Amino acid sequence: ALTVGFSVASLAGIYATVMKALGAGERVFHLLDREPSMVKAGSKRPMGDEAGGEVRLQKVWFAYPSRPSRWVLKGVNLTLLPGSKLALVGPSGGGKSTIANLVERFYDPQTGVITLDGCPLPEISHDYLHRQISIVSQEPVLFNTTIAENIAYGSEPSASSATAIQLAATMANAHEFISQFPEGYENLVGERGVRLSGGQKQRIAIARALLMSPRVLLLDEATSALDAESEYLVQDAMDRLMVGRTTLVIAHRLSTVQSAHVVAVVDKGVIVERGSHAELLERNGIYAGLVRRQLQGGTGLGGTAQNANGG
Ligand code: ATP
Repeated sequence: ALTVGFSVASLAGIYATVMKALGAGERVFHLLDREPSMVKAGSKRPMGDEAGGEVRLQKVWFAYPSRPSRWVLKGVNLTLLPGSKLALVGPSGGGKSTIANLVERFYDPQTGVITLDGCPLPEISHDYLHRQISIVSQEPVLFNTTIAENIAYGSEPSASSATAIQLAATMANAHEFISQFPEGYENLVGERGVRLSGGQKQRIAIARALLMSPRVLLLDEATSALDAESEYLVQDAMDRLMVGRTTLVIAHRLSTVQSAHVVAVVDKGVIVERGSHAELLERNGIYAGLVRRQLQGGTGLGGTAQNANGG
């Protein structure tokens, strides 16, 4: 009996250790994939290997799980034609990032539907969705591993040869600084390796997205404190990344909205204006006001102040 008791105790110990390890693993998984555990995926691949890249939000209502009684999006309709660029602008807290979160399927809307190539996102296989839709944020997640592995993260091993990684890095304006590290692409990043500047991290993230080559891109231009040189290199790399892909960009720069096919102004969870930059200027409504304020050196188009904390 004693022996059995002893075994059970150690089993319990092992069990606890394993559960702890699993818990930690799951948290890392969430961080990597930004996918809450409740979200179930289907098995569809709407367009086979080559997604068309049409994204549609239809009558989307959404409240965050932590505040279920407060609608953050109230009946949003948006269409992104394949290869087109949609810029979201509007006051802070209006719901721009929330729209991007939903397209990435970080959350599902309570009512309404979001489709990729006509297929509702929950019916699409997790792997497929993550290959087709990528987010490039201001604070990319990098891992404590080599530069090469950081760039290859998320791509098929067959598509991640050293040559392909280097090509992606070159297009992302990252090859030059990577080459200057003692071990180049094999250099470790983070605690035990090189420390990267904000702009360098962003270019690694852009190289990662270029290698993954998704049909749909979600970009957050939110102003970060980059020096002019670094900002130019990041923007130039992003421009290259966007070519030919459906892009939803939370825009802060005038050049971005000018080049977008459609600009949508989001305010209090509603699309209050939409059209091209020129059309919206002519309408002389909310958008025209945002642009005027930006030109006068005030808040950005996305509602957040460029230099100050306020808005
Ligand atoms: P900004 O320009 O400041 O980034 P935004 O237009 O992107 O703003 P969202 O970040 O989408 O706006 O926020 C919309 C609303 O949802 C805000 O009222 C915000 O407080 C709320 N919100 C955002 N994220 C969460 C969350 N994780 N849980 C609960 N509420 C949230």
